[in-house]
Amino acid sequence: MPAKPVKVEFSKGTGEPVWCDRCYIRIAPNERRTVASGKAYHTHCYSKIRPNGTKK
Ligand SMILES: [Zn+2]
Repeated sequence: MPAKPVKVEFSKGTGEPVWCDRCYIRIAPNERRTVASGKAYHTHCYSKIRPNGTKK
């Protein structure tokens, strides 16, 4: 049985700069990010502003 490829959440190679809307530090292309309401956050920053996670 062949090994399944690991799925990654981040994309790379777009070259599009993205800044975190909470700490205003640029999010590296290979870094995890969370996008909510059209704004991008570091995953750990988003977890701080939304401690309840995916709750609307
Ligand atoms: Zn951040």
